[in-house]
Amino acid sequence: MSKHTPYRKHGRLWSVEELMQQRGELLTALENLLELSESQICRHENTHRGGLIWEICDDCKEMWADDMGGKPPWKDPKEWVAARKSIARAKGEAK
Ligand SMILES: [Zn+2]
Repeated sequence: MSKHTPYRKHGRLWSVEELMQQRGELLTALENLLELSESQICRHENTHRGGLIWEICDDCKEMWADDMGGKPPWKDPKEWVAARKSIARAKGEAK
């Protein structure tokens, strides 16, 4: 496809330049959204013991009882993983 070949999308013709601009805007928006999300969700990295059985997060105050299995290991949300992968691919950093 040449640089100026139009592409039909949503019933109208889009130039490659328009599509590339949209792609860039979506990439920036996704990066910003991921960054915001990562800053808003607590990974419970700092905890202290409370009472005999509790582990309590210093940052968000969530707590886990040892007899209920204790604090689960942190796992990044699948949405973060998918967004990071998509961003890396768009930037040519991954296959
Ligand atoms: Zn926390």
